[in-house]
Amino acid sequence: MSDVGVKMRTADEQPSDLNIPDNYVQHTLKTTKPLPPVTWANLLQNINWISFTLLTATPLIGAWGALTTELRWETAAFAVFWYFVTGLGITAGYHRLWSHRAYNASIPLQYALALAGAGAAEGSIKWWSRGHRAHHRYTDTELDPYNAHKGFFYSHIGWMLVKPRRRPGVADVSDLSKNPVVRFQHTHYVKLMVFMAFILPTLVAWLGWGDARGGYIYAGVIRLCFVHHSTFCVNSLAHWLGETPFDDKHTPRDHFVTALATIGEGYHNFHHQFPMDYRNAIKWYQYDPTKWFIATCRSFGLASHLKVFPDNEVRKGQLTMQLKRLRETQERLAWPSDSNDLPVITWESFQEQAASRPLILIAGFIHDVSTFIDEHPGGAHLIIKFIGKDATTAFFGGVYDHSNAAHNLLAMKRVGVLHGGAPHILDLADEKKIPPSQRLKIARYNELSSSGSSSEAGF
Ligand SMILES: [Zn+2]
Ligand SMILES: [Zn+2]
Repeated sequence: MSDVGVKMRTADEQPSDLNIPDNYVQHTLKTTKPLPPVTWANLLQNINWISFTLLTATPLIGAWGALTTELRWETAAFAVFWYFVTGLGITAGYHRLWSHRAYNASIPLQYALALAGAGAAEGSIKWWSRGHRAHHRYTDTELDPYNAHKGFFYSHIGWMLVKPRRRPGVADVSDLSKNPVVRFQHTHYVKLMVFMAFILPTLVAWLGWGDARGGYIYAGVIRLCFVHHSTFCVNSLAHWLGETPFDDKHTPRDHFVTALATIGEGYHNFHHQFPMDYRNAIKWYQYDPTKWFIATCRSFGLASHLKVFPDNEVRKGQLTMQLKRLRETQERLAWPSDSNDLPVITWESFQEQAASRPLILIAGFIHDVSTFIDEHPGGAHLIIKFIGKDATTAFFGGVYDHSNAAHNLLAMKRVGVLHGGAPHILDLADEKKIPPSQRLKIARYNELSSSGSSSEAGF
């Protein structure tokens, strides 16, 4: 090997993000200019002709072929099989093994995945993983090659049809540059792609049951079209449809339909949170054939070191989102006035004001019950009897042990706090002062650490 060869290889194997500035994203966006936007006027110069031709010719040839070629059941079954083989080359190989290092694969499995992935005609492992690592590192930004904020069409296929406006953000693939299987596939990519995508399926159907044309059209071209859009859905549909059970900071989402369309890559909200986990679906009943395939490979000794994020951390993410949603519900409801926001009223003033409107003292709070007298289930007389008086004992079981709902409703009628009145108020247990609906509340961190109502915020 020559000196130059050694030097070049060393440079290739250096982590590409070793010397980037700390404020890399801002710095790059500020110091590098994107290419001008694609318009009708400059469209022709901006088309990425290789991928444009591949991505438009396959559906056109496929449609023409389907109209002119009889579909035999053997060919149909083989096309579906080949869809899963080449699809798994991407999901289990390109994606989970090489982009995310979610497990270790034996050399035979690596070659099998590298060949199968080449049959999906989505570029070499190295090119694909470099873009995908940038997608994870810069999700939803200008440095994300398939930024979902640029719309469904762009993130699905548009980003490949035209030349990118910016280089994707830096992402290190020096580990892949050192991998002999990845290097072999990168060097011989075009030959491998043509063979695995078109020649092999044609040969199998020809030699197997004498249907070369059907093999080419159905297991080659149409199958490829399905594999393409299946993978593309991970960048579009999985960033658009579904729920965010683990985090909602970015666009990735979980949905069963996306999983069906993508050989199990549809639990994308989980995946962006825990990208090095070999699973996308964490429940046994969720559809993730890629996970099942990797686990099967492990049982045959072909895969090892399957990475799983600690369940405790996964559940923390889930709990955070659940609390966030509960907090939203909490904020949509009306709550009683806090004691800090109510006027402090003396016993004398309470007596005086109770002469002109129905005020009742319960648990240290003065309540205006004017809108409730006639609606009181126990009868108006029991309320009228306590106007201007302390009804704490009567309310909490002396006359009737009121329901939690009654206590919650009572708290909404607070108009003041009694000052220095009935001596036993300070000794009252919290459960009498704080309505049931407020004993367990969701408080933000800064609300807990500030004084004031924090004791009532509780949880
Ligand atoms: Zn994504
Ligand atoms: Zn990923």
